[in-house]
Amino acid sequence: TQDNLQNLLFRIDGKGYKAYKDIKGKYKFKNYTLSIDSVQGDPFAAPSKGRIIVSQEASKFPEDLFNKPYKNIAVCDFITRLFSNNIWKYYSKVKGSGKSGLLTIDKPGQEILPRTSSVIDETHLEIRFEVGLPAAGRKVLGKEAAKIFFDALPKIAENTLFYKNINTDNLKSHVNLSIDQHYLRNELKKKKLVAFISNDSILPRESGISDKPLVKEAITFKSPKSLEVEFNLPNKGIIKGMGIPKGITLIVGGGYHGKSTILRALERSVYNHIKGDGREFVITTENAVKIRAEDGRRVENVNISPFIKNLPNGQNTENFSTENASGSTSQAANIIEALELGTDLLLIDEDTCATNFMIRDKKMQKLVEKNKEPITPFINRVRYLYEGLDVSTIMVAGSSGEYFDVADNIIMMDEYIPYDVTDKAKSIVEDTSFNIDSETYSINTNSRILLSSSFPRTYKGIKVKAKGLHTIVYNKTSLDLKYLEQLVDSSQTNCIAVIIQYIAENFTSNKLSISDIINRIYKTIENKGLDSISTFSGHPGNLALPRKHEVIAALNRFRLLNTR
Ligand code: ADP
Ligand code: MG
Repeated sequence: TQDNLQNLLFRIDGKGYKAYKDIKGKYKFKNYTLSIDSVQGDPFAAPSKGRIIVSQEASKFPEDLFNKPYKNIAVCDFITRLFSNNIWKYYSKVKGSGKSGLLTIDKPGQEILPRTSSVIDETHLEIRFEVGLPAAGRKVLGKEAAKIFFDALPKIAENTLFYKNINTDNLKSHVNLSIDQHYLRNELKKKKLVAFISNDSILPRESGISDKPLVKEAITFKSPKSLEVEFNLPNKGIIKGMGIPKGITLIVGGGYHGKSTILRALERSVYNHIKGDGREFVITTENAVKIRAEDGRRVENVNISPFIKNLPNGQNTENFSTENASGSTSQAANIIEALELGTDLLLIDEDTCATNFMIRDKKMQKLVEKNKEPITPFINRVRYLYEGLDVSTIMVAGSSGEYFDVADNIIMMDEYIPYDVTDKAKSIVEDTSFNIDSETYSINTNSRILLSSSFPRTYKGIKVKAKGLHTIVYNKTSLDLKYLEQLVDSSQTNCIAVIIQYIAENFTSNKLSISDIINRIYKTIENKGLDSISTFSGHPGNLALPRKHEVIAALNRFRLLNTR
């Protein structure tokens, strides 16, 4: 019971820090159970992990708020944010050495993601937090710890985990927004759209390092009439905005007129955003993949031959591997890898493209013979991607009109307002501004079998750890994720690290393809929850679910990856 914990804390007060190990365990409080799942070894180590567990009879959150996966995610997201706010409200930090007195929870950003920080089902509600157990130097401050467990946490729990004590209007509007977003994402497909941006959205961000909306100077979004579509959302009702149809869409316009901003909003809107974000009704098909050049990346066994053939060193491009890709080969690999897993939309910004991958102009075509040029530019393949494979493209192109020929829709950004200039642009197209190949071809992706030799062990086994948003370290091999622009939360990176560990431990048959493995893991997560892939018991660590695309993208860049 809670008395046991209190007695323990008083008894170990003033002892060496290791004495804290004794408090690991479960304690019954009046309205909940406190579980201390792991205890840090010293005040400077990663904080200790704990959970508060409330039965459904006590918490009384109505089941119809969380009886669908997307609603459940929204409720958990709400509880996590509220818990975090209530830490600020009800806890004044106790002092001490190292991480003493730290009290935190994995805090969500602008997106609403499936996360392990909170769980709700028909039987119980659970919240997972971290605490720095207080110390003076390396001596236990048991009385200070008691303040956290007996003053702060009960207040925070009381005002977060019991339905009668929370602002239920806020919770309902959080869930209702998720219902609308879920509905909208499904409706996109029925209307043959790949993306939607509602009127009055705010797309620009506060700064290059902040994902919060630009407030004062922002020009709100307004759809051109010709592309305007309407939805009747279950909660919000009628909403209008720009629907981007399947096919090839160009975003053109002068420099600094907001082209990259709109593309960036589309990239990130594979996720749902919170109210007030400005992008809550910007919805992109969830399999959209940002494609960019990424020279220096590793490529393992990818068939880039639809784009690149006859390399001067005679290297085979049907099973192309390199430790150091060029701009164009990396961009080709990024596309083929996206197709291997499955995508219905490529998002491309000229700012981050390899020019020679995108276009070869007429003069250059005349000067350099075709059989001397290894690259078939994207412009020659983009229509086949759509007509043959049903993969649409949205592309920012401000500097070249070559793509007018192959585009279905052309949108011009003018002082941050979009205009439909399709007809005007098409009338400009000269008869033969460039030669689309008439050669017939198809795009085959390799079904790459994952080999267990990808995951060498040391005598200590396998250790995979995330470091911030952009780095994962496998034993001593570092994996760089900084160009995965749709990876948005460092807890997703944690989750990718856990998934890599999970693959290394569980998928050593040398028989399954990378895509099959990822699909199986996501099935497991769907059936058993995100906790199920964690190696910890109790508090599973701070994990947020990435898309399959980001997990595979991480594997694809892993320098030890070995496939056949
Ligand atoms: P482009 O790609 O066309 O060169 P950007 O999208 O990079 O232009 O935008 C240029 C600048 O304008 C950025 O600082 C961006 O934050 C700002 N911006 C973009 N859209 C808007 C908008 N709707 N309202 C206000 N500022 C905007
Ligand atoms: Mg730009």
